[in-house]
Amino acid sequence: MKIKLIPIIGLEVHVELKTNSKMFCGCKNDPFGASKPNIYTCPVCLGLPGALPVPNKKAIELTVKLGLGLGCEINRESRFDRKHYFYPDLPKGYQISQYEKPFASGGELKFRIQNSEFRIIRVRRVHLEEDTGKLLHRKIDGEEVSLIDFNRSGVPLAEIVTEPDIRSAQEAKETAKKIYQIVRALGVSDADMEKGSMRLEANISLSEIKEKGKRKKEKGELPDYKVEIKNINSFRFMERAINAEIERQEKILESGKKVQQQTFGWDTEKQELKPQRVKEEAADYRYFPEPDIPPIVLSDDWILKIKDQISKLPEEIYEGLIRTGIAAAAAKVIVGDRELAEKINGIIREIKEIGDIRDIGNWALHHQEMIKEKPVDELISLFKQGREGLVSDSGQLKRWVKEVVEDNVQAVNDYRKGKEAALMFLVGQAQRLAKGKADVSLVKDMLSSKLSSDL
Ligand code: ADP
Ligand code: MG
Ligand code: ZN
Repeated sequence: MKIKLIPIIGLEVHVELKTNSKMFCGCKNDPFGASKPNIYTCPVCLGLPGALPVPNKKAIELTVKLGLGLGCEINRESRFDRKHYFYPDLPKGYQISQYEKPFASGGELKFRIQNSEFRIIRVRRVHLEEDTGKLLHRKIDGEEVSLIDFNRSGVPLAEIVTEPDIRSAQEAKETAKKIYQIVRALGVSDADMEKGSMRLEANISLSEIKEKGKRKKEKGELPDYKVEIKNINSFRFMERAINAEIERQEKILESGKKVQQQTFGWDTEKQELKPQRVKEEAADYRYFPEPDIPPIVLSDDWILKIKDQISKLPEEIYEGLIRTGIAAAAAKVIVGDRELAEKINGIIREIKEIGDIRDIGNWALHHQEMIKEKPVDELISLFKQGREGLVSDSGQLKRWVKEVVEDNVQAVNDYRKGKEAALMFLVGQAQRLAKGKADVSLVKDMLSSKLSSDL
């Protein structure tokens, strides 16, 4: 019988938290700013015997903030655990992490994919751990050597784990982007993927569905294996890596074989999967409670205080901009940049007296850098001046609109068939004729009334 295979994907996202000091010691947390390797180190983050960890309160605060931003419940009692494995970048032979009692659990991400319906991806947990040192492979005097830089060792690292609710590589990319936006909006991490302060891992399996649409497995039952792709440093590479892995698994399953539980990395240069170590089971990590740190109890008041600090999140800002009349494409760019979004929101709040401020989206896209540099009141007058320089003469605008309608039959038909996005395309074409000087909101009104009248 022919089978249909559905991708089952869960993500693990690590972000280095923006604190002054490291997770369990007073060393500076600035691995990328350090002038030399191994300058921000002490007995604790070098894992020397007898050194005792003291948890960083700020890191816990940022983790709780992140949990709240992802819609999680904050656990009133949490605990650190030791996770054991052996690798040269982990000097203690274990990582202090969280296992059974993370700071946050049970959240969800709700977002639209390509302006279509809402998707909900559940967030299983957000926990706090310490980053490892960094291994550098070099050739010195003709010899291959591995060097270790402990500047990163003990940097606070939050891990976000989703449920396996994701069903395609594209959806995985959108989920990761959504997490990125939230992390940036909350200001808990730089989340710079090129530097490695945000790192992505994807877990992938394929679930079989019988041809008739009846699931071979019970609803909700997951495949009994998963393949993990670790250390991916871009959204685009993650999408590629997942698609490559889906294809690989399809071939194996279609030939009647079983997929081995395994871990891959993504080779950025060759753009292909590369096999890594055989994946440990939880039992191999020999988790047990960290005896040197008592359980952490958080009060309702403390959690409420953090809740109050959280400013509006991207989805809300996005919906707000759309309600203002700003085009979806512009709103997306604005929301993706926290500083820009704050300024634009500031301008919108102050400028309500101009009845129509839809142009602000376009204006923001063309002046992003300037907007970030100047204060809001100055920006408001610049925006107003910019509008004054716009062509609003209706005779001239009508000529542009007429030309655009005649030259873009396809888009005109699309719009008449109900494709709203075609209207913005036509507005864009008019703006091109006008060399950016047309009053966008007037053009939009003219176009839409012209297109609905000359049917
Ligand atoms: P582990 O203990 O091996 O880390 P978890 O059950 O904690 O495994 O899950 C880790 C990640 O793998 C989560 O993001 C989860 O959603 C995902 N995951 C779990 N089972 C599957 C599966 N069968 N297929 C794909 N992803 C899965
Ligand atoms: Mg994992
Ligand atoms: Zn230290």
